[in-house]
Amino acid sequence: MEATTLIESFRVDGKVAVVTGAGSGIGRASALALAGAGAAVVCADIDGASATAAAQEIAAAGGVAEGVTLDVSNRGEVDALAQRVAAERGGIHVWCNIAGIMVEGPFLDAPEEDLDRIISVNLKGVFFGCQAAGRIMVTQPEGGSIINASSAAADAPSPNIVSYAICKAGVVQMTKSLAVEIGKKKVRVNAVAPGFVLTGMTGRYFVRPDGTVDEEMQEAVIAPMRKFTPLRSIGEPEDIAAAFLYLASDASRFMTGQVLRPNGGVAMV
Ligand code: NAP
Repeated sequence: MEATTLIESFRVDGKVAVVTGAGSGIGRASALALAGAGAAVVCADIDGASATAAAQEIAAAGGVAEGVTLDVSNRGEVDALAQRVAAERGGIHVWCNIAGIMVEGPFLDAPEEDLDRIISVNLKGVFFGCQAAGRIMVTQPEGGSIINASSAAADAPSPNIVSYAICKAGVVQMTKSLAVEIGKKKVRVNAVAPGFVLTGMTGRYFVRPDGTVDEEMQEAVIAPMRKFTPLRSIGEPEDIAAAFLYLASDASRFMTGQVLRPNGGVAMV
């Protein structure tokens, strides 16, 4: 590949991308990154207002986007969105399964309802997204790219998040198994396993109900994360969006079944 062509291959002009969890944090940053690099982006989130806000920000910057309400744990909703987007926009080239929730607590007391809830979003939600996108992508001559959010929690165990960790480990195995199954149809399936990133999910430890930040609590949460991370820093959503953009683009055309780990070095697998 020529050098200029190589640089251009990191762009995603002309691609249609669906991003779940696009209303907040890593999903939002990924939607903005994809749109900035040329994709038409469908921003989907259970919080439709935040998805619409992300789409409006993209449009204000000159990009193409729409915001939709989507519960990834509802298979019918996921299928319907995929069908509609493919019909209206002429296909789906990139599907990012980023929506997720956290459930914490001691394993020995974990209620079954909590387990069902996290599996329905973090595992079944990714399964439904892969299935809906995969069914469309295998019919396209150009195939497509599916990218799933895993977590460093699948690589480096921590206490009190067993159900979260098993979902994220399941996402890795789903990614690899599906990559083998549909690779011959030019559909690539990869995962991104971020380290600690400041987002709505992690900010809830120190953001007060009125939206202000308890800075002392914030430092108490972040300081140990920094200490045990080789790069001595925590991530920003854009650090993770860069991995999603790379895996969405043709620059990663020879990668499938892989896990990218933007995690500051906290887990090396
Ligand atoms: P976030 O800021 O909370 O964003 C997640 C988004 O997903 C939220 O807008 C959330 O809406 C939405 N969502 C929740 N349930 C949904 C559902 N059933 N259907 C559709 N959307 C739903 O979290 P984030 O930190 O950016 O996390 C994004 C992904 O990265 C997650 O899969 C997470 O597990 C993973 N991850 C995060 C970190 C980290 O340190 N932040 C590290 C490793 C992996 P509500 O806010 O209304 O619930």
